[in-house]
Amino acid sequence: MAKIVCVLFPDPADGYPPRYARDTIPVIDGYAGGQALPRPEGLDFSPGELVGSVSGELGLRSFLEEHGHTLVVTSDKEGPDSVLDRELSDADVLISQPFWPAYLTAERIARAPKLKLAITAGIGSDHVDLNAAIARDITVAEVTYSNSISVAEHAVMLTLSLVRNYLPSHQWVAEGGWNIGDSVARAYDLEGMDVGVIAAGRIGQAVLRRLAPFGVKLHYTDKRRLPVAIEEELGLTFHPDARSLARACDVVSIHAPLHPETEGLFDDALISSMRRGSYIVNCARAQIVDRDAVVQALQSGQLAGYAGDVWYPQPPEADHPWRTAPHNGMTPHVSGASLSAQARYAAGTREILEAWLAGRPIRDEYLIVDGGHLAGTGAVSYTAGGAGH
Ligand code: NAD
Repeated sequence: MAKIVCVLFPDPADGYPPRYARDTIPVIDGYAGGQALPRPEGLDFSPGELVGSVSGELGLRSFLEEHGHTLVVTSDKEGPDSVLDRELSDADVLISQPFWPAYLTAERIARAPKLKLAITAGIGSDHVDLNAAIARDITVAEVTYSNSISVAEHAVMLTLSLVRNYLPSHQWVAEGGWNIGDSVARAYDLEGMDVGVIAAGRIGQAVLRRLAPFGVKLHYTDKRRLPVAIEEELGLTFHPDARSLARACDVVSIHAPLHPETEGLFDDALISSMRRGSYIVNCARAQIVDRDAVVQALQSGQLAGYAGDVWYPQPPEADHPWRTAPHNGMTPHVSGASLSAQARYAAGTREILEAWLAGRPIRDEYLIVDGGHLAGTGAVSYTAGGAGH
């Protein structure tokens, strides 16, 4: 029988369950490109419930306990006395979400001799030291595509919000004002701008598709060039690297995984090479940009805005400079954790567990590391290394 440790974000401050704004979520038929939705044999929650927080338990408890397994759920993940560190020592499986990551470092892996499977309930397994997982033959799996569209929608929202100066304008009315001059002094139309994505994978491509109707000029860079038919359909300009793209765009939206090739990519030199008054949206990973270079560029006006939902570490310290930098539109790490996304990544987590516990193969597209090497989506999108740790 297996012991499964699951690290989830805390319940809402007002208690659990919340009073839901809606009664249902739409039923989605499938993902673009033909990948099938999660297909667990059973589901013990109603899609639309808050299953990503501690009391939601990803809807896994009855399934696991009925089969004789042990489930420990906690949000206490930092420091040697944390519940995570205590429980990991004899765990077979660790489940974690990128929004409240259980950083699975080489040291933690060394202290977890039974650990065989690390599941990311979501997308992005950079909180796992992939080299250490490879060396120990730990399988790393994530629920590929589960929240890609959620993030794409968020990135489009943040792009519009920055360019149109939405958040400060809202702040004026919330504070009782009617300051049209102050609100519009930094507001522009997106139409006609050059907008580029760093990486045109599932999320980056969905962002391009959603932005195409806005009458913008679209750019992208990726390790793998998209088919000509897609480039022509969306009117895309391909750039061989981020440097070429950054200087050609007014807005850059980052959608690459964090790995050694992308860590620190947007440093002071790259940001300085952009057009004055550019915007950066980053819903990928914080360490792809240089934290302090972003703050300095916002202060100097080199960047007109920076928005995103990814930080390092998570949660960030109370005095993290992105909380107070001018013209920032930061939120906690929420873009991929909507109730709609949770329904999919919780179902996908159960699908992965069902397969692994029964000794069946995990879907190839869910794999990041397997059999001691990068596998599945991991082999396509990552390079092994110590990024983020
Ligand atoms: P994906 O695997 O479909 O796409 C990743 C793309 O990045 C691939 O096309 C790959 O070729 C490209 N790439 C990798 N290294 C590159 C490099 N050095 N230069 C250019 N391109 C490179 O993944 P996805 O579903 O689109 O997700 C992308 C990332 O977004 C995830 O790895 C994760 O870090 C992040 N993400 C964030 C959230 C959130 O809630 N904020 C949710 C999901 C995913």
